[in-house]
Amino acid sequence: MLALSGYQLGVQFRFFDPSAGAPVGQIGELVAARYDDQRALARFLEEVEVVTYEFESIPLEAVRFVSQHVAVYPPLAALETAQDRLFEKELFRDLGIPVPEFAAVNGIDELRDAATRIGFPVVLKTRRMGYDGKGQVVIRDQASLREAWATIGGAPLIVEQFVAFDHEFSVIGVRDTAGNHVFYPLAQNVHREGILRTTRVPAPDASDDMRRRAEGYCSAIMDRFNYVGVLALELFSSNGQLLANEMAPRVHNSGHWTIEGAETSQFENHLRAILSLPLGSAALRGWSAMVNIIGKIPSPERVLGIRGVHLHLYGKAATERRKLGHVTLVTESSEAAEEGLKTLTDAVRDA
Ligand code: AMP
Repeated sequence: MLALSGYQLGVQFRFFDPSAGAPVGQIGELVAARYDDQRALARFLEEVEVVTYEFESIPLEAVRFVSQHVAVYPPLAALETAQDRLFEKELFRDLGIPVPEFAAVNGIDELRDAATRIGFPVVLKTRRMGYDGKGQVVIRDQASLREAWATIGGAPLIVEQFVAFDHEFSVIGVRDTAGNHVFYPLAQNVHREGILRTTRVPAPDASDDMRRRAEGYCSAIMDRFNYVGVLALELFSSNGQLLANEMAPRVHNSGHWTIEGAETSQFENHLRAILSLPLGSAALRGWSAMVNIIGKIPSPERVLGIRGVHLHLYGKAATERRKLGHVTLVTESSEAAEEGLKTLTDAVRDA
């Protein structure tokens, strides 16, 4: 999606992915090699002016190697922080951004002490490599501690207060090389089994004050890193308070609606930022809703029969729990968005 938005700006691309079957090979030149293959990385870098990434579990060493040869955005330090849930939460706390209570845990006794102090229920998460609900367990009481530890113990872990949130929001910001910021309106997200299912924009349950606070948090993080590119910050709202859950130093799934729903998509704005081009407006083109296609592809005839719908399929092989595409609906009213979303959700669920 980054490349598709860049081709129309006259940008040329080369892609690096460990898998020779990576879907991006369907649209451009793919160098497929291991992240630690420095000769392949050097070949990839020939004539390349700037490098970005859209997946945050890349080994830091590969990104460090690349950054010794060409500019890499977003900055390495932001990636390093985002790869570790403990560093991330510590950063939020340092910047005065409210977070759920948390503690690093390295053994079952530490877990018991921390969980008792925080109060049940708690969520135990691997500090690294967790996404889409992987590497997390909710612990409801003392009796379940041992079983949770047996499931993911062994890796460095973080335990957090389980937030009985009212809603989940994300704010997507873009910062350019001159330090200018642009923010998309707050998105309201629904996750199931840790995977994003739907996004609505503008967020039906967010106040203007929440939006201002979320932008302030996002901007504090970007300024700390002298950030360039798109940054997403995921938040829980609970009794009017916003608590930061995690950040993503990349274009984000909760911003996919921007392709049709905003004046400038997050993909184009990310490219504009890293190429030192003026940032585009993030203003809305209507009420948007996005539904992820997970595990099975729905009937295109049925989906495309819904008014205002835009289908995006990624060319991935279908496997359970894998994100295979998304559908965005842009409408002229919040009522039409809700109605269309219902029809769309049924079509996707019946796949
Ligand atoms: P994460 O991988 O941290 O983004 O978690 C995926 C999803 O799990 C979140 O979007 C929430 O729906 C849920 N979740 C994660 N952490 C917590 C928490 N501390 N309290 C309640 N729900 C959580």
